[in-house]
Amino acid sequence: MSAPAYDNDNIFAKILRGELPAHKVYEDDDTFAFLDIMPRADGHTLVIPKRPARNILDADPALLAPVMATTQKIARAIMAAFAAPGILVQQFNEADAGQVVFHLHFHVIPRFGDQKLRPHTGQMADQAVLAENAEKIRAALGG
Ligand code: AMP
Repeated sequence: MSAPAYDNDNIFAKILRGELPAHKVYEDDDTFAFLDIMPRADGHTLVIPKRPARNILDADPALLAPVMATTQKIARAIMAAFAAPGILVQQFNEADAGQVVFHLHFHVIPRFGDQKLRPHTGQMADQAVLAENAEKIRAALGG
């Protein structure tokens, strides 16, 4: 079964082109990281490749290494910024698996024991709180 083609007008492609705002925490030549607008926990960050990929099924394997390297970097920074004892990395492929935005992304979510996560794509966070949390992560990244 073949997946639909990459849609250049998905929300994350628009963020990459600067057509929509985002609380950026990190960027390099290959990857971009920004806060999830409906965070499941404070500091919930998304890591994406700059090159188009719908999800892990169609991605050029060459873009996975930089995306995972950035995911590791962000995981460590979130751990430090929020004093989180654990980090969840989560990634959905196609609607049946829960994918809502069709540009490859990895969720990086701080975890605190049995503290419940907020629902996936639940409630929009306050912009001021997102800005504050993005700053904490950027500070932990050393910038
Ligand atoms: P999924 O495709 O299931 O991994 O979910 C897409 C994720 O993107 C959800 O966690 C949404 O809260 C998040 N999201 C949707 N729109 C935006 C946006 N404009 N900026 C940041 N995160 C977003």
